[in-house]
Amino acid sequence: MIEPSQALAAILESAKVRDIITKPLTEADNSVLAQEIVASHDVPPFDNSAMDGYAVCAEDIVSAGKENPVRLELIDEQPAGKSTDVIVTPGTAIKIMTGAPVPAGADTVVPIERTRPGDRYVDIQVAHKLGANIRLAGEDMSKGSLVFEPGVLITPVIIGLLASLGYASVKVFDRPRVGIIGTGNELIPVDEPLSPGKIRDSNSYALTAQTRAVGAPVERIGVAGDTKEAVASLVRSALEVADVVVTSGGVSVGDYDFVKDVLKEMGADLKFWCVKQKPGKPLAFWTLDGKLIFGLPGNPTASVLCFEEYVRPTLLKMMGRQNLLRPVVRAELTHDLRKKPGRYHFVSMIVENVDATYRATVNGRQGSGILKSLAGANGIGIVPSDISDIKAGDMIDVQLITLPEDH
Ligand code: AMP
Ligand code: MG
Repeated sequence: MIEPSQALAAILESAKVRDIITKPLTEADNSVLAQEIVASHDVPPFDNSAMDGYAVCAEDIVSAGKENPVRLELIDEQPAGKSTDVIVTPGTAIKIMTGAPVPAGADTVVPIERTRPGDRYVDIQVAHKLGANIRLAGEDMSKGSLVFEPGVLITPVIIGLLASLGYASVKVFDRPRVGIIGTGNELIPVDEPLSPGKIRDSNSYALTAQTRAVGAPVERIGVAGDTKEAVASLVRSALEVADVVVTSGGVSVGDYDFVKDVLKEMGADLKFWCVKQKPGKPLAFWTLDGKLIFGLPGNPTASVLCFEEYVRPTLLKMMGRQNLLRPVVRAELTHDLRKKPGRYHFVSMIVENVDATYRATVNGRQGSGILKSLAGANGIGIVPSDISDIKAGDMIDVQLITLPEDH
């Protein structure tokens, strides 16, 4: 049996970053940028008003106040999307809307709420510093500046920035397509009634959702019964559409565990089988014609956890991401924890930050079939293989799997 870190290293060595493709901006979110983004112009492109109000010369209004307003002659109006040739000279003002270019001669905008407009004039009731309420050209991104480097995940905010810079399409790393397969005679789909001896397939649904959460396109191929033919047929279908195939179940030492046999007969290169961990010991991994195949154990917790620990970082690497692993914090256990030495334990935990110290508490009963403890957890505690008992107050590593504000 290999260590979890060796298993991950072996997988990541086989996982290659995908090719660079050009995508329309409208489809580029969740992809990773594969080019430098240099601003070809200032954003905003021109000085513009941050308020609805009046464009003035600051010098004109130094003495203005509520009781002693300064009266300025109104000489034009400046809505957004238009540019005026009229110049603001001392003693005059131009009515201006948010986002409209600041007219020549004006250096300050007075918000409408601090004025009393007349017919052909406006009374300014406040003094403002030079430059007040003006957004300067290039204050967001200045022409020629390096805005993003390759490797950045394109978030919705970055989509907005790219749009403002005029990128109708961008170079990104292609995303691996993932195919999910369940195996087991006992499994029935989510929308069918239970019958004796049967359970509902949960893994294929959870794994599909986990893949989607990583941001890779995914297809739930289906569930194979426990025969070599059925498993082989679904694996073949998956390989036709996917770069990464994830199976669950049928990879242990049971009489009907055929996934390993099937892949061997297909000529897949088994990189490892069995990892020194709990849950998820019988994890297997192959490569075949440049594709990656994960054989996840069938127990629901093991399946979800092995995706989190091994499949997720693999997909992130292939997608061109730089940071593949969840943040890990050292956390103080709030209670004793007993385990047998010999394997690493991945434990569902609740992590809290109390007075700048992370404190970790096991989230309910742990078990390979108890998926609910993982559902409520925001951390996965990792207890090393050689350790048996840990005491309250001892420190352990905990991966933060969700944002703290979710809990
Ligand atoms: P296996 O790895 O095939 O021996 O399965 C181990 C355990 O996980 C058994 O109790 C299976 O019934 C269960 N299991 C396997 N696949 C699934 C699945 N897709 N959804 C829910 N439970 C499963
Ligand atoms: Mg099975």
